[in-house]
Amino acid sequence: MSIMRPWEMHDTVVIGAGVIGASIGYHLAARGAAVTVVDAGLPASGATRHSFAWISSTGGADGPAFGLRDLSVQDWRRLGEEIPGLGLVWSGALTWGEEFGRAGAIEPPIDVEPRLADLPSSARFSPDEGWIDPVRASERLIEAARHRGAQIRLGAPVLRLIRGEVAGVIGVDLGNVVLGATNVIVAAGTGSAALCSSVGVSLPLPAAPAVMVRLWAEPGLIGHIVANDEFEARQSPDGTILMPRGYAGEDSTESLLATGETARRLLIDSFEGADDVRLLSAEVGWRPMTSDGEPAVGATRIPGLHVAVAHPGVCLAATIGRLVADELTTPVAAPELARFRPTRFDGRLRAPQASTV
Ligand SMILES: Cc1cc2nc3c(=O)[nH]c(=O)nc-3n(C[C@H](O)[C@H](O)[C@H](O)COP(=O)(O)OP(=O)(O)OC[C@H]3O[C@@H](n4cnc5c(N)ncnc54)[C@H](O)[C@@H]3O)c2cc1C
Repeated sequence: MSIMRPWEMHDTVVIGAGVIGASIGYHLAARGAAVTVVDAGLPASGATRHSFAWISSTGGADGPAFGLRDLSVQDWRRLGEEIPGLGLVWSGALTWGEEFGRAGAIEPPIDVEPRLADLPSSARFSPDEGWIDPVRASERLIEAARHRGAQIRLGAPVLRLIRGEVAGVIGVDLGNVVLGATNVIVAAGTGSAALCSSVGVSLPLPAAPAVMVRLWAEPGLIGHIVANDEFEARQSPDGTILMPRGYAGEDSTESLLATGETARRLLIDSFEGADDVRLLSAEVGWRPMTSDGEPAVGATRIPGLHVAVAHPGVCLAATIGRLVADELTTPVAAPELARFRPTRFDGRLRAPQASTV
């Protein structure tokens, strides 16, 4: 039985106002494109709000998004100049250990983190790296997109994509209304797989949870991003410390608080005079990570349907926003995205019949 609902005509619809959808919406609006950003909740209500938000250009050739990551610092710096109040902090990052594969004596051998209990004999300081407040950045990107003419619809879950009988994807179904669209960009984080499968496009996103522990200490305990095989940590000017932890099956408030307490003790042991560190919260964040760990960005095999899902998504958001907007507003495919096309997952789902609205 077909149900007739009102149609509104839009041009490009971006699903998701996390940091990636917000960046795409901003970059499209800044190029004068007609764009509508739709989110089930508020900006940054998905993985983005739990992010450590490290902007790092040096993931290594075997790390995810090689070739895109090295563009991230310059793209975030550009955005910082275009949009006041984005909340970028170019603190620099001190890293050591096997996981970071960046050993090499600190050059020059200065005491960059004076309160570290044990300064490693071999480490690397990367002065050009930094972090953002990911919620504030997403909100500012959405505001800036709106200022440049984008339509923003929050609290509007997309139930499914609409596929025409002849053409490809022709709109998105909000339940009470259908937004007809020439292009639909799915940037819905972990919600992207279900939306794509509603038109037969496979986007494998196995569960990839992580725990974000928030602590507080007197400001000035940690000066930079500090990362090694045991922990990653950074401190905001208001004293808040973020420490992401691996997920170990935490399924209750008690188990999350236990993880938070372990992180607190680790921090106290790792820094001098850190006895006042308090646990604020510990929450699970669900990272949108494809089955091969690489971003999925660009056109799908269905005309009109594009995808933008990536990890590490905060780091890559400024670059992905720029490249996706370039591809939609010019006839040129971005060579930087060639390795990351979502079509590499094709053939894993059967296409459903065209849907009647
Ligand atoms: C603990 C932790 C630490 C991390 N550390 C880093 C880091 O240091 N650096 C880094 O770069 N990345 C990091 N990440 C990963 C990063 O947070 C994510 O890659 C990034 O936030 C993904 O952004 P997104 O916009 O794609 O998705 P999300 O932030 O999840 O946004 C998706 C949006 O889509 C909306 N949505 C979903 N389904 C629908 C629907 N059907 N209809 C309408 N709206 C919908 C949601 O409401 C949400 O707002 C970390 C993640 C975690 C959890």
